[in-house]
Amino acid sequence: MRTVQRLISLFLLVSTSLVQANTQIDNLRIWLAPDNTRLVFDLNGPVQHSLFTLDNPSRVVIDLESASLNTDLSKLDVAGSPISKLRSGKRDDGLRLVLDLAQKAQPSSFTLPPNDQYGHRLVVDLATSAQQALKPAAEPLSIPDTQRDIIIAIDAGHGGEDPGAIGPNRLYEKRVVLAIAREVKRRIDAEPGFKAQLVRTGDYYISLRGRTSKARTANADLFVSIHADAARNSKARGASVWVLSNRGASSEMGRWLAQKENSADLIGGVGSVSLEDKDEALASVLLDMSMNYARTSSVDVAQLVHNKIAKFAKMHKKHIEKAAFVVLKSPDIPSILVETGFISNPGEAKKLRDPAYQKRMAKAVAEGLLEHFWTRPPPGTLVAKLKESGQLPKGMEREYKVVAGDSLSRIAQRNGVSLGALRSANKLKSDRIRVGQVLRIPAG
Ligand SMILES: [Zn+2]
Repeated sequence: MRTVQRLISLFLLVSTSLVQANTQIDNLRIWLAPDNTRLVFDLNGPVQHSLFTLDNPSRVVIDLESASLNTDLSKLDVAGSPISKLRSGKRDDGLRLVLDLAQKAQPSSFTLPPNDQYGHRLVVDLATSAQQALKPAAEPLSIPDTQRDIIIAIDAGHGGEDPGAIGPNRLYEKRVVLAIAREVKRRIDAEPGFKAQLVRTGDYYISLRGRTSKARTANADLFVSIHADAARNSKARGASVWVLSNRGASSEMGRWLAQKENSADLIGGVGSVSLEDKDEALASVLLDMSMNYARTSSVDVAQLVHNKIAKFAKMHKKHIEKAAFVVLKSPDIPSILVETGFISNPGEAKKLRDPAYQKRMAKAVAEGLLEHFWTRPPPGTLVAKLKESGQLPKGMEREYKVVAGDSLSRIAQRNGVSLGALRSANKLKSDRIRVGQVLRIPAG
């Protein structure tokens, strides 16, 4: 019995070392973000590695145990990255990779197990914090009578190592949504009093929390994440617009309160109120107010964007939807997520691939956002001033279809108009409304 066990463990030992001895680097990819460079080594098996830095000249050294190189490192285009040269050397027990740095960078590394797309990988990140993806957009309010721009953070989902959904003929979600995001930005920037910032400006990955924190750094008034759906059933289709679910919101509130010591400038959206110096009860009230504002605005924007898209696209559901998506969890920034259609549906994939359709989608998203802020501009903004002086763009009168549970007063409140104005715009004799009735919403 004991001999058998020994044999088994000996066999395991031998087979493990055999697997390790065979680990090869088959391919190498690079992703450039404004503040980070990611190297991904594709491996044919798991690997043990260690990473350290050397100075004069500045180098990052990565030792891989029992590994060998099966690709040409010089093929990699390192232009635009902090790496000046990539070298390798054999060691008794494996392989050494050396990254010569032309610029200071903070390295980190981790390995990833296989997934649908890739096999085993070693990822090396070089953070170059000096460059900032999003510069703080708002100037300090020291100059009197300065009206600030409304800042919209536009987040194209996925990127780099994470392609998102993949449709027929290698149609990648990460590319479709970046194209749409860029077009939304172009439209927003064309409007006086608005400034759009792309959270992701190229083909690289940003963590979900990284995306919301970039929006916060930019002092965003609104965060819009753009995606395309995928489902096993290739018949599934339709666009959808999402806001944070109540459950997601309340669990997030607990999270923010728990870490308030570390989040000095959390509530940027309501006059940069810090939770740091507040007692538990006051912090909780402030956070609750901020989250309520963010939630109400999110629902309004989502509904407007939903209606705009519904004019030309099939919608997945009749109403906006709710989920606990991490990117929607900013307590201080109204946030929506737009699924532009199912990339896994051949018919919708064909549309989403078409630049003309991407532009149409972008136009709908931009129009929804603009309409929200033209109706309810935040105080202190140029848009608020334009609205006050009656200089808002024409065609601002919009329509609203009554749903179950609506009341006229609530619709008026939600749209920032008086009950009287709503009554007279619709020539109503009483406040009774019916489900499905279409109301004209006057412009403020
Ligand atoms: Zn996605």
